[in-house]
Amino acid sequence: MGKVVDFNDYKKGVATPYTVKPRNRRCDHPRLLVNDQAHTVKCEKCGEEIDPFWVLLQYADRQRRTELQAKRYEAALSEFQKIKSEWSLTQRERRRIEKVMSETTL
Ligand SMILES: [Zn+2]
Repeated sequence: MGKVVDFNDYKKGVATPYTVKPRNRRCDHPRLLVNDQAHTVKCEKCGEEIDPFWVLLQYADRQRRTELQAKRYEAALSEFQKIKSEWSLTQRERRRIEKVMSETTL
């Protein structure tokens, strides 16, 4: 006869010779504590030990997104300057027209 497994036991983790701790999915590890002596990284919020390679990937992804945002900003700035220069030209033309109109008498 086989052993009956109580599935409620699995809620605390799987009991084997190796204990599998349930993964903390609620923490996004906002602040990290880097131990440069032991070469380990720990989350200051939840205390979980973080894989340094995961940290490296997070930094790389953040860097990529920052560069993308900088490119978008540069494109928006260049568009703004283009519009501004066109607007200045219109203002100049308007002033010329107003000058000519004020000098014109019926
Ligand atoms: Zn955390």
